[in-house]
Amino acid sequence: MKKQAEETVFDAVIIGGSYAGLSAAMALGRALRHVLVLDSGQPCNRQTPHSHNFLTQDGQTPAALAELARTQVLAYPTVQLRQDTAVQATGTNHDFTVTTAAGLTVRTRKLLFATGIRDLLPTLPGLAECWGISVIHCPYCHGYEYHHQPTGILANGDMAFEFSRLIRNWTDQLTIFTNGPATLQPAHREKLAALGVLVQETPVQRIMHQQGYLSQVELANGSAMPLTAVYARVPFEQHCLLPRDLGCAYTEGGYLQVDDFQKTSVPGIYAAGDATTMMRAVSGAVAAGGKAGAMLNHELIAESVPA
Ligand SMILES: Cc1cc2nc3c(=O)[nH]c(=O)nc-3n(C[C@H](O)[C@H](O)[C@H](O)COP(=O)(O)OP(=O)(O)OC[C@H]3O[C@@H](n4cnc5c(N)ncnc54)[C@H](O)[C@@H]3O)c2cc1C
Repeated sequence: MKKQAEETVFDAVIIGGSYAGLSAAMALGRALRHVLVLDSGQPCNRQTPHSHNFLTQDGQTPAALAELARTQVLAYPTVQLRQDTAVQATGTNHDFTVTTAAGLTVRTRKLLFATGIRDLLPTLPGLAECWGISVIHCPYCHGYEYHHQPTGILANGDMAFEFSRLIRNWTDQLTIFTNGPATLQPAHREKLAALGVLVQETPVQRIMHQQGYLSQVELANGSAMPLTAVYARVPFEQHCLLPRDLGCAYTEGGYLQVDDFQKTSVPGIYAAGDATTMMRAVSGAVAAGGKAGAMLNHELIAESVPA
């Protein structure tokens, strides 16, 4: 293996070196494949103090998880990792070219996108500082830490009903903040009332917190409500648009379309992790990355030794 990435035609370039990308790199490194991982260092969970619900690593910091993953993956000598951003990708199956922000140009037989998504946080004061700490998106990741505690849900309409039904499993001290007139169906409103879920229509003005840990929610009428956690489902965009430039198809929901083998709609291009699914979890990203790596290797074998 040549030291300079520039001179090498890689078996695979993996764009995105967080949980999904590193898991794919491990499978490919163990398959003796020459792999370059490019990572711009912005995983979506970077602000959360502890990552939960991943067996053997429950409660670990996201950074520690990633550091251990990098150490284990880079033990395989055919895997290289560069902290860099892929800014251009061109070509077709067997001959892709990737250019990075640092000016590196590399060629590769296959491409794998593990680039995740970017959460588009509302401009509510205090929310960004609390994101992943006490303003949370997923009860399986962080709900246990706030069980039986006064909790809010920022949502309206059917989404508010569905989210409340779910979160009610963790706490019965629930208030929905609809941020204006509630658009809940009357039947849903009745069910929520029977469950003791409050509906607050006065807009939220600010989230008060200490270093990301919420203390109360301030409303536009000047009143305040003490809470320890708020759930929010926020819109997202793809972190990286290079798959679009290469012609990859997306689902209606905005995810990269993949088949059961993590193949995108473009031959030779694979994808895994949050970029491809709404089921966000470290365990899911690791599983999908591992599968993508194995399937990509399988394709390389099938191409070099036709059946
Ligand atoms: C606030 C928060 C808290 C969470 N808590 C938990 C939890 O407790 N437990 C759990 O199981 N899950 C949790 N999740 C979900 C989990 O973090 C994600 O499912 C997981 O990080 C997805 O991994 P990924 O590799 O697909 O994407 P990411 O981890 O988001 O990584 C994508 C990587 O690709 C890189 N990248 C993007 N574009 C480029 C480019 N052009 N060039 C180079 N690199 C690029 C990014 O910089 C980033 O490093 C949480 C998510 C959030 C948002």
